[in-house]
Amino acid sequence: MKALLAPLLLCLATATVFAAWPINDVCPVDGKAARPIYRVKNAEGAFIAFCCVSCQQTFEKAPGKYPVKKKDTPK
Ligand SMILES: [Zn+2]
Repeated sequence: MKALLAPLLLCLATATVFAAWPINDVCPVDGKAARPIYRVKNAEGAFIAFCCVSCQQTFEKAPGKYPVKKKDTPK
């Protein structure tokens, strides 16, 4: 039973990440590749991703200072 639990939890975690996929793929603070595990929700309810927790904190202190470049969405 225990052996089944870990893959199940991993599956749930993956599903949660995809449900809240960020609107950007480049860190707005320093332009590095963003990782979806570091993210905040903006005023519109969209998720913004960062490359590391320190960038996330920097952004949270001054969200207006760092324009978020949205990733290209296929039309
Ligand atoms: Zn960064």
